[in-house]
Amino acid sequence: MTKQLTALITGANKGIGYETAAGLGRLGWKVGVGARDQGRRDEAVAKLRSEGIDAFPVPLDVTDDESVNAAATLLSGAGGLDVVVNNAAITGGPPVPPTASNLDTVRAVLETNVLGVVRVTNAMLPLLRHSSAARIVNMSSSVGSLTLQSNPDIQLGIGDLAYTASKTFLNAVTVHYANELSGSGILINAACPGYVATELNGFSGFRTPVEAAAIAIRLATLPSDGPSGGFFNDEGAIPW
Ligand code: NAP
Repeated sequence: MTKQLTALITGANKGIGYETAAGLGRLGWKVGVGARDQGRRDEAVAKLRSEGIDAFPVPLDVTDDESVNAAATLLSGAGGLDVVVNNAAITGGPPVPPTASNLDTVRAVLETNVLGVVRVTNAMLPLLRHSSAARIVNMSSSVGSLTLQSNPDIQLGIGDLAYTASKTFLNAVTVHYANELSGSGILINAACPGYVATELNGFSGFRTPVEAAAIAIRLATLPSDGPSGGFFNDEGAIPW
């Protein structure tokens, strides 16, 4: 009998994170629903369980050391961890151009979208190192691509500094981890889910969270000879 794999998905109480948990759960995985609000977390776990998914709650605020360390302890006690999907993120509000940036907002966005990923990844790596199928997926966005942002022929539509640059930073973080983890068997990649109707953008996106979760699920379930240090959407590689 093959061992049941376990994933932690951050920000799994709604949107793309929820559907990533649901998708991995439908594959027979045990899924840790990482979420900071108890009510929203419990509701998501109950909804997943009502579908027959082996979901369990993981209290988690990615901006808080104590919370992240407690989550690692909980997962260790739950039998370990194979995959982390670093999905939690904030926009910091409606897009504003760089010259109108509020530094407190920029700091808050980086704390969640970048430092939160580093905090969670470092806390979970000791568990992942015990897995033979360890994968890390960082939910990025094509708006973080410097190649696309600096191409005048491509309209990405958002000039916001805090959010877009946080995803550029996250892409760099992904590459640095991939370099360090090369040869460890742990594969780490960045994903772009496309423009998705979620609370993040006031439900203005045209893709569904189920469609968006597909790339996270694919990168979470890569074979051992799969890529690491890449940036992907459903169609393939995205330029950094
Ligand atoms: P969403 O519906 O707003 O979900 C974001 C999730 O992150 C929520 O569960 C939220 O929890 C959680 N979160 C925020 N701060 C947190 C913290 N400090 N600790 C723990 N959880 C926290 O957004 P989404 O669209 O599904 O976004 C998921 C990912 O996809 C993000 O990384 C986003 O940047 C990326 N993405 C989205 C789009 C899009 O079009 N939607 C496009 C490209 C990339 P609460 O409910 O407690 O706030």
